[in-house]
Amino acid sequence: MNLRYDLHCHSTASDGTLTPSEVVVRACQQSVDVIALTDHDSTSGLKEAADQAMNMGISFVPGIELSVTWSHQTIHIVGLGIQHDNSLLLDGLKKLHRFRQSRGEEIARKLEKAGVVDALEGARKYANGEILSRTHFARYLIEAGKAKDIKQVFKRFLVRGKPGHVAGSWASLEEAIYWIHAAGGLAVIAHPARYGFSATRLRQLMGEFAELGGVGFEAISGSHSPDEELRMAALANKFDLYISMGSDYHGPENPYRELGALSEVPFDSKPIWQSERWLQCLGHISGVTA
Ligand code: AMP
Ligand code: MN
Ligand code: MN
Ligand code: MN
Repeated sequence: MNLRYDLHCHSTASDGTLTPSEVVVRACQQSVDVIALTDHDSTSGLKEAADQAMNMGISFVPGIELSVTWSHQTIHIVGLGIQHDNSLLLDGLKKLHRFRQSRGEEIARKLEKAGVVDALEGARKYANGEILSRTHFARYLIEAGKAKDIKQVFKRFLVRGKPGHVAGSWASLEEAIYWIHAAGGLAVIAHPARYGFSATRLRQLMGEFAELGGVGFEAISGSHSPDEELRMAALANKFDLYISMGSDYHGPENPYRELGALSEVPFDSKPIWQSERWLQCLGHISGVTA
């Protein structure tokens, strides 16, 4: 039987709008068989989601999406099958939280210069968990009437070259993979087609990632086009990486993205749930049998 996997999504523990339990309930409604919650730089929603998954009889993979600065650019590394309370991982996350805090203050100062008042308080109102994200600033800016939707607000205020942009200083690729491994998980390059990398740069990233013990490549993503998915899946084969798939769902406000609404695994791809390492970390994954 073919199971339906969604191995990348967000809850109110980071910048999603559904609580961890609500994400699991919705995954069930969408006939997802195996769901991973992968909040940005946070494991705080995993316990609640795991309990809900146990109640509903759906398989749950505890995950995370780590912010990484690689080659002067922000990329995301997903960790799957992690122990949510591993102290090395939690120590690493503290460093990212400190940067998020100071970055938030700086974003607010810069926005103030651009005529947006009280942005820090405004963004914090939207942040339910320990994570203060650009998405929370985006929601406040929309509330303040500075843009009509999330796409426009990022374009006008929050991306490089715009008034509310602050350059990243996240984990190194090496640190992120080390923390994921320390917590017993598998490292995956998230939404690889979204970074706008040249082919050479992407290959460089994949080479370094594989060298450090990374195993997964999220070829199938809610943020990829069908063409990008095929190109990324072919590239994964070249580097002998397993492919992963995830919607990157953030909540029902975005009608174009749904939990579990993903393409099929290409016939010549190796999905990450067929890797030996996946089977090894099943101890942290509830309800999945080999
Ligand atoms: P942060 O990690 O705080 O820098 O926030 C990154 C998050 O902002 C991503 O995970 C997305 O959820 C969101 N995001 C980034 N760029 C865009 C965009 N162009 N449109 C909508 N959301 C975006
Ligand atoms: Mn996000
Ligand atoms: Mn991401
Ligand atoms: Mn994501």
